[in-house]
Amino acid sequence: MAARPRVYRAEGVILRRRNLGEADSILTVFSGSEGKFDAIAKGVRKARSRMRGHLEPLTRSRVLVAHGRTLDVFTQAETVESYRRLREDLEASAEALYCLELVDRFTEEREPIPELYALLVASLALLQEGAGPSVTRFFELRLLALLGYEPHVEGCVLCGGRLPEEEALLSPAAGGLACRQCRPEAGAGRIVSVAVIKLLRFARRATAPEFAAMRVPGDAAGELRTAVGELIRYHLDRDPNARRFVEGVGALGREEPSPPSAPDSPL
Ligand SMILES: [Zn+2]
Repeated sequence: MAARPRVYRAEGVILRRRNLGEADSILTVFSGSEGKFDAIAKGVRKARSRMRGHLEPLTRSRVLVAHGRTLDVFTQAETVESYRRLREDLEASAEALYCLELVDRFTEEREPIPELYALLVASLALLQEGAGPSVTRFFELRLLALLGYEPHVEGCVLCGGRLPEEEALLSPAAGGLACRQCRPEAGAGRIVSVAVIKLLRFARRATAPEFAAMRVPGDAAGELRTAVGELIRYHLDRDPNARRFVEGVGALGREEPSPPSAPDSPL
């Protein structure tokens, strides 16, 4: 039987930090190869630590980790992407921190989901380029799909019938859209507009840049945010903490009247 290697390499995004003692921190990393894991960075809070700066939350780093008796220990860390421009933008960093919290809450330790890691890295890159909150909507919907919680939006989730082009009930408990006849059996939910239904469908076949590039009228964007937020809350059984932060930051930016609906919207 091969002995377990004493060290391993991983590339991942630092999700979270907890301080330990005088100078150490425990970092939670989400990587493609190992999934989510915790490890200690010894002395990382000392000014002369070589790992300092490479293990900040919202940094993508390559790390070398040694298995420890209780917790693993970082022995090397090197930044791949510091997301400096993203950090300088309050709204974009609020969106990014929300995505990190979702990954943290929805994943189990040491269960690699390489597609989710790729989605996270792609989403952070788009947020850094200024793509805005559509990136987060795409991220939420794809995360749900990757974890087996994709809402059924192509037809009625209960009877399988086609949905006419009209508003429908989105029921997290039923797992998707319900037609008018099935509404009474669908449980609690929210009536969503045709625009939102089209966005939910488009998210299934679009790439992240395609979805992010779409011009969504402000009211449809708000409605989509609420509807997807309810799906997240249902599967997580709580609201992510960072959601309130995103909404607070968004309210700051909404002091100017919002522009009228874009006439060239693809909806
Ligand atoms: Zn039905």
